[in-house]
Amino acid sequence: MRHPKNIDGTANASDEKAPTSPSTSADHIRITEQFSAHNYSPLGVVISKGQGVWLTDVEGKRYLDMLSAYSAVTWGHCPARFIKVATEQMSRLTLCSRGFYSDQTGLFCKELAELCKMEVVLPMNTGAEAVETALKAARKWAYEVKGVPDNKAEIIVFSGNFHGRTTTIISASSSSASKNHFGPLTPGFIMVPYGDSAALAAAVTPHTAGILIEPIQGEGGVIIPPEGYLRAVRKICTDNRVLFLADEIQTGLCRTGKVFACEHEGVQPDLYILGKALGASLLPISAVIGSKEVMQVFTPGTHGSTFGGNPLACAVAREVIKYIREESPENRAKELGAYLVEGLTAKPLSKVAEIRGRGLFVGLDVRKEFGKAKHFCHELKDLGVLCKDTRDSTIRFAPPVVIEKSEIDWALERIRKVLE
Ligand SMILES: *Cc1c(COP(=O)(O)O)cnc(C)c1O
Repeated sequence: MRHPKNIDGTANASDEKAPTSPSTSADHIRITEQFSAHNYSPLGVVISKGQGVWLTDVEGKRYLDMLSAYSAVTWGHCPARFIKVATEQMSRLTLCSRGFYSDQTGLFCKELAELCKMEVVLPMNTGAEAVETALKAARKWAYEVKGVPDNKAEIIVFSGNFHGRTTTIISASSSSASKNHFGPLTPGFIMVPYGDSAALAAAVTPHTAGILIEPIQGEGGVIIPPEGYLRAVRKICTDNRVLFLADEIQTGLCRTGKVFACEHEGVQPDLYILGKALGASLLPISAVIGSKEVMQVFTPGTHGSTFGGNPLACAVAREVIKYIREESPENRAKELGAYLVEGLTAKPLSKVAEIRGRGLFVGLDVRKEFGKAKHFCHELKDLGVLCKDTRDSTIRFAPPVVIEKSEIDWALERIRKVLE
């Protein structure tokens, strides 16, 4: 194979170091490290195939996927049911822009609104775009409906949050790595501790437009708030005419044992923000779902996206919604999640400080004296279990919900080996 050339035909300056015909994991790692920006630090495994919960690397070694691409692969790798729909739609119509109607976009919005028990859907592509959309909706609603003076709207966010990587979203982050030297940042965010409803109530002002919250903090380390907290947040929002913006990009769509994690406390937010599993790992698709009162702030020309609501992604997402309705995969997540946590807690693991879980969304804190969680993820990788650390001391286990008990047993054996 020839080296890639620059567009004018001259040799690429970095050609020298790249292997001529990459075939081994080491080759691909070298190429990636040379040519991709270093905004991730991946485990040293090079995946070339996926099926269900299993991944295969370029040398043919198999791994059990306990990360699911941060819950984007909730229905398993290369899921036949969704590939069929995608393939059919792909040869019919993929993109026409929202400049026209399509026979998929409207139906997707209708079906997703029904699943969420809400009225109106605004489709986007990535999670971050959907969060941005929700923030824009809340601000515009505050000015045009609630009557907050222009440019004074405040959004309350929580320490330890993760909502994405745009400049505005990182402005709401408490992680210095996420925001350092990316300023000037977007003003208008107020930060309060997660799980403390008194602190939240005290932070609300007449200028508060919305509260942006993960019902369980995912990247924050699978942090489950105290019982009753989401109900308290709902009450604070209702009492003060503040919008409850639920970022369920990671927790939503059955991962935690309910279709939406807010349901664990019987809470209905004002806006749902969804992404990840909505595209069945085939395509990025995200959405904001809400009431007419809020969503009517968007009028032609005020917001949009070229790929948002494209017929291909909508067809796949419609099948995801149908699958959820037909199969209730949240029950499977609930049962198998309980089985996983039971397995992890059956016998004490000497290196583990705490295990938290809801459905197939499990966080395991490693005792500080045994070093960082990352080191255990490397060891697990060598044994064939893929997972990632988050926030230094936590390992997150979030396998596809199609995982079988026997596969959980297989993982448990290895997890035990590493953490005992
Ligand atoms: C992943 C995630 C996002 C961002 O989604 P992207 O598709 O990566 O932009 C936002 N919020 C939460 C809770 C997430 O887990």
